[in-house]
Amino acid sequence: MVMRYRKRLLNPGPVTLSDRVRRALTREDLCHREATFTDLQAAVRANLTNVYAETASNYTAVLLSGSGTAAVEAMVGSLIPANGKALVAANGVYGERVADMLAIQQKPFVLVKAAWTEPVDTTAVARTLESDRDITHVIAVHHETTTGRLNDLDSLGALCKAHDVPLLLDTVSSFGAEAIAFEQWNVQACAATANKCLHGVPGVSFVVAEDAVLADGPTGATTLYLDLFRHRKAQDDGYPLFTPAVQAMYALDEALAELQDSGGWAARRSRYRQLSRRVRIGLSGLGFELLLGDQRHYASMLSSFILPEGLTYDRLAGQLAQQGFIVYPGQASLKDAIVRIAVMGDLTESEMDVLIDEFTSVIHGQAIRYRAS
Ligand SMILES: *Cc1c(COP(=O)(O)O)cnc(C)c1O
Repeated sequence: MVMRYRKRLLNPGPVTLSDRVRRALTREDLCHREATFTDLQAAVRANLTNVYAETASNYTAVLLSGSGTAAVEAMVGSLIPANGKALVAANGVYGERVADMLAIQQKPFVLVKAAWTEPVDTTAVARTLESDRDITHVIAVHHETTTGRLNDLDSLGALCKAHDVPLLLDTVSSFGAEAIAFEQWNVQACAATANKCLHGVPGVSFVVAEDAVLADGPTGATTLYLDLFRHRKAQDDGYPLFTPAVQAMYALDEALAELQDSGGWAARRSRYRQLSRRVRIGLSGLGFELLLGDQRHYASMLSSFILPEGLTYDRLAGQLAQQGFIVYPGQASLKDAIVRIAVMGDLTESEMDVLIDEFTSVIHGQAIRYRAS
């Protein structure tokens, strides 16, 4: 079958694969008890801690077979002990999901919740840290994919430093393409996945954590499967704890090599910024407004636009899908209100130009009443 066009995923993961990563999926069949797997696992773990210079020593990467949520749940579950108490700073779906995890784990926590379109409420975080001396960990989301906001972790991290409380980060949609100031923000661990900014396939996720923390224990894990301490020990001994997603590991291995060859996380951020800039200029020319108002609030790789009155998400997404562009809706209360466009993956600037053309035909194909701005 000849494809008329290349399908382009503009959702925030899984991503449009490069040919190089796609080919890695067809490497040889492999048993995870072969020495080749031990080498692959060691290389992937080392390359993950090498993505950021700061984690090249004193941090370790623990691999999990599962999606990003598995890594976040393993991080929160294992690193917060039974007698700990977490402060969750949330301004979106993913921050609130961490609170749900803690509730299920029956660990005490305080949820400092902000509106989804607002920054993290650092004033309330400061007040809570001041008044509640039992708090042992702060948890936050770096890039809150709900809206596309890149949370300002300079101020949150400074509070963690000042109170000597470790910060645990959900970096699922930022790892590999945004700055993470591990030492300055007091980051003890971050959780992420293969199939967002790293451009691998779904199936492998990971936690990068301070080596010393994972050496000590005791674990706070309330499940056997998501116990980071167990996984870490097994992986240090050369084998995965359970059957891993072997082909997804091949893809991640290649994707990490590709990231390195293309200049590392900062180069990827520049690339994303270029592509996002094109999308934002093009769509603002068509009357779309950014949900967060100003593009400075956004992470490099995602934009959320308010749907103009008269244009439903389903109609827009349906027409774009016919041309091979897969966009992404909002979640929960934002479901019918916005369209999200992520530029992760193997995408080109000229494809973004075609995308703008397709948006233009959708808009011009029907009467739209633009919101007065
Ligand atoms: C995508 C995402 C997740 C969840 O990842 P899954 O792979 O769908 O489990 C968690 N946090 C953030 C910030 C994300 O963008």
